Amino acid sequence: MAKHIFVTGGVVSGLGKGLTASSLGTLLKAKGLRVTLQKLDPYINVDPGTMNPFEHGEVFVTEDGGETDLDLGHYERFIDEFLTRASNATTGGIYQAVLAAERRGDYLGKTVQVIPHITDEIKSRITSLATDDVDIVITEVGGTVGDIEILPFLEAIRQIRLDVGRPNVCYVHVTLVPFIGASGELKTKPTQHSVTELRSRGIAPDVIVCRSEAELGGDLRRKISSMCDVDLSAVISAANVSSLYELPLAMHEEGLDTVVGEVLGLEVGQPDLTEWEAVVARGEAAVTPMRIGIVGKYVSLVDAYLSVVEALNHASAFSGVKPTIDWIQAEDAEGLLAEGRLHDLDGIIIPGGFGPRGVEGKVAAAGWAREHGVPCLGLCLGMQVMTVEYARNALGMERANSSEFDPTTPYPVIDIMDSQRTVTDKGGTMRLGAYIARLEPGSQVAEAYGREVVSERHRHRYEFNPRFRSRFEESDLRCSGTSPDGRLVEFIELEGHPFWVGTQAHPEFKSRPTRPAPLFAAFVEAAARRLTGRTAAAEPGESTETASSKADGEPANGRDPVGVGAGGGLAPAADSDPA
Ligand code: GLN
Repeated sequence: MAKHIFVTGGVVSGLGKGLTASSLGTLLKAKGLRVTLQKLDPYINVDPGTMNPFEHGEVFVTEDGGETDLDLGHYERFIDEFLTRASNATTGGIYQAVLAAERRGDYLGKTVQVIPHITDEIKSRITSLATDDVDIVITEVGGTVGDIEILPFLEAIRQIRLDVGRPNVCYVHVTLVPFIGASGELKTKPTQHSVTELRSRGIAPDVIVCRSEAELGGDLRRKISSMCDVDLSAVISAANVSSLYELPLAMHEEGLDTVVGEVLGLEVGQPDLTEWEAVVARGEAAVTPMRIGIVGKYVSLVDAYLSVVEALNHASAFSGVKPTIDWIQAEDAEGLLAEGRLHDLDGIIIPGGFGPRGVEGKVAAAGWAREHGVPCLGLCLGMQVMTVEYARNALGMERANSSEFDPTTPYPVIDIMDSQRTVTDKGGTMRLGAYIARLEPGSQVAEAYGREVVSERHRHRYEFNPRFRSRFEESDLRCSGTSPDGRLVEFIELEGHPFWVGTQAHPEFKSRPTRPAPLFAAFVEAAARRLTGRTAAAEPGESTETASSKADGEPANGRDPVGVGAGGGLAPAADSDPA
């Protein structure tokens, strides 16, 4: 039977509960256990699909088309398993299920209440992950202990201990131990209060993970141990680390996996962290500076492009380069070119997005990259603006555009699919999740992937318009990857350019620190070649294992559902610009 670990947070939000849960997952998996992770979010949105990435960070898309919290991205990158939409539940989604059951009459006339109906639904979301092929379910409860909306979740995880038996549950509480500059001290009082609050809900933590700027000394550990009633070995100091991938190693040093193993009675030895140590060593050894521009709309909140940044980091580590990201606000198209904002870049990434704001700046950046031989990777909307740019400036289709941004354009080179034209409810009209593409033999993308059939995740409503495809292909632009039936264009590239590649998909979601996404690997190699060319005086670095030689884009568990992406999910309303 699967055992459960619950991760709660106290004192403040943003402590890195998700990374703590992910690190613990990494360590337990490295001990040979089968681990899965889940995030419960107390907000009322049914899923994060409608939430503004500027407020909430990116929407992470799972293989089965779930629009989920960005913590699922951390989980997948750390434990290297594909998760599903079942790994993320919100208050809104839980109420939706309970209300639907109530309308169906499933409750047989009973009064429907938070306890037991909402709490039972929460428990069923948790236990549904505890299948026969899982040893450990790690459930992170979003929000902070003391919040009003977290109460049903705390009640549910409290009850689960009784349901599944005490030895099968471990509660990990992540808190802040702040440094007070005036007295020059780390303070444990907020942790004590937070644990008191948790205990008032009937949950006594087994382990306390203390986030702090500096490592906790013995005195503080003893104080927390005695005031919060946990073993001294269960007070884990989580001081700042320079790279997030160091966290599992740091947590192992602190004994997190050992103490959790003791609480749960796990009979497993030490974790094999060889692969993870290699991730950290590779990151540390990658020092050649490289400048990559990310041209986007949400550039002041880095989390809005979290998976893109991580995919860039993974690929860079394998190529021995250290990217500095130049966040380029796409709104001022003319300014971008006039101010020479793009001049010093070794590569440009144009990420996904919704709504017209910043689109012209992205078009300008794509054009600059095309004309100046700068490697450029377009992701989803990025591919669409590359198509628009090429139509306007290389093929002379004046005012070409996506019909998302200009419904009256004479050249809708990106258009909504016919099947979706009449749908008025935006929900369910997106192409979401994993879809297969066939790559043209000998193309740059086939070269990058090292294969001709690939699967990547999608989240979009508009497509390359097949009506114009022959116009493009009479020139140097290749539609180098399509859906298996040839109808939908999935990849474009430009003959004669070092790397001007766009994909309708989001390959960033499948990138791993151990296995970069092939397209990012190829992009970074192209950028590194440009860098080497630009600094011809410098010796080119020697790397025996290049990014693309390692990248194959498939998970260790080998699950790669074919074309499972289904409609469903809501329009990213908050994500769209108001007119
Ligand atoms: N807005 C575009 C569409 O819906 C692109 C979406 C994206 O980049 N994820 O097709």
